[in-house]
Amino acid sequence: MQRFQYYIDGQFLDGEARFPSVDPASGKEWADLPEAREGDVDRAVNAAEQALYDGAWSKMTATQRGKLIYRLADLVAANAQKLAELETRDTGKIIRETSAQIAYVADYYRYYAGIADKIEGSYLPIDKPDMDVWLRREPIGVVAMVVPWNSQLFLSAVKIGPALAAGCTMVVKASEDGPAPLLEFARLIHEAGFPAGVVNIITGFGASCGAALSRHPKVAHVAFTGGPETARHIVRNSAENLASTSLELGGKSPFIVFADADLGSAANAQVAGIFAATGQSCVAGSRLIVERRVKEEFLTLLKGKAEAIVIGAPLDMATEVGPLATRRQQEHIAALVDKSVQSGARLVTGGHRPGGEGYYFPPTILDCDGVNSPSLVNEFFGPVLSVVSFETEAEALALANDTHYGLASGVFTQNLTRAHRLMKGIRAGIVWVNTYRAVSPIAPFGGFGLSGHGREGGMAAALDYTRTKTIWLRTSDDPIPDPFVMR
Ligand code: NAD
Repeated sequence: MQRFQYYIDGQFLDGEARFPSVDPASGKEWADLPEAREGDVDRAVNAAEQALYDGAWSKMTATQRGKLIYRLADLVAANAQKLAELETRDTGKIIRETSAQIAYVADYYRYYAGIADKIEGSYLPIDKPDMDVWLRREPIGVVAMVVPWNSQLFLSAVKIGPALAAGCTMVVKASEDGPAPLLEFARLIHEAGFPAGVVNIITGFGASCGAALSRHPKVAHVAFTGGPETARHIVRNSAENLASTSLELGGKSPFIVFADADLGSAANAQVAGIFAATGQSCVAGSRLIVERRVKEEFLTLLKGKAEAIVIGAPLDMATEVGPLATRRQQEHIAALVDKSVQSGARLVTGGHRPGGEGYYFPPTILDCDGVNSPSLVNEFFGPVLSVVSFETEAEALALANDTHYGLASGVFTQNLTRAHRLMKGIRAGIVWVNTYRAVSPIAPFGGFGLSGHGREGGMAAALDYTRTKTIWLRTSDDPIPDPFVMR
């Protein structure tokens, strides 16, 4: 068993308890992990608070902070392959994707390294004589970051990068499932030379470690990625201290295909949207909304592509779909597919768990036309596509918006004016037109409704980790006039 530690106040520690991690490709335990409970959470938050106000970090210039983040970015790039292999081993996400994604994580850190000394305050043209007024932008405080098991290095980078640029200190709670890569990443934080306590990385279970962290009185902001039900716990807990929150949650994202689209290209994008990462992607385009007169043609194309997908060992570069991250996830998906079929959905392909070891589930397509299927409403977080068809553009838009979520969406058409109408009409934080599943550090990312609030990526994310302070300076040496009048 490979042994991991977590990182508090610049030290690598064994944790209050230990628990095992399971390799999803074999179902066997492979790593021994530290478990943080209330005591270690408290230690980590105190270290972050100390570093925020009293340490070398608070004395650094923004440019020096940026240089440290650049160093971190270089270390991530240099260690990308090792981190990718760990993430693949611990979560089952295929090596093809983890190696590309982690190399790109380095670019996220580079982007925020550059932003560190571009966060500016302002001078206000105040409406009073003899008065100078400025807005200072200061770090929001100690930030708690809680991430889910899929893409932990990426989902933490979109929080750690902007928070460091803003000068915050933080406690990152890795998921209890697949935390090894994030614990290993702590070594790079250490090697980059961040002062002790600036970034603390722990792991533990949601109900103990996550809850203790989100309700800690010294936490000013909780940045969360995960499911809506957990988000409700986070909001309730953080409300104790009136801490602010940013919530990146799940989705049931519509993928609309019009008859005039390039169907081959749309089918490739649909495969990327629902089968890549074994469907364990918050932006999964899990509801295909296709124009009725091309439905059969498009489904035939998709079925062919789905059945040609190479399912296999996640560490094999040839594999396109690996196992799901946990047995819990495999059981949830199988149960939801069964319920959907019982409700009348027609299985176009897949749908059944294979025998053998590991948490595999095949690419699955459910034709839900005319059926009130639970698969159209609930997030699978797995490789399952639900299909409905439409006649008119208005019908397509109504189907797209028929969800409480609002994270991502895709529109495939060659009609420019229609594309513009849908861009405006779709209620989701991201609209991809004739493309899908593209992200960048430069582009804000986030959802509406049950998909959460707050944005990650872009300058706005760094500003969200700041708070403003208004400074008033009177420039007159005359005595203060009438003290009973507010001026
Ligand atoms: P989850 O909500 O079960 O867990 C996420 C994290 O919250 C874990 O670290 C967990 O330990 C912690 N947690 C659980 N209970 C807690 C509590 N009471 N208090 C504090 N923390 C607690 O999510 P998951 O199953 O790990 O991940 C899947 C979900 O994440 C899906 O809904 C998916 O769509 C969503 N997701 C969203 C995005 C996005 O950017 N919008 C990205 C990836 C995943």
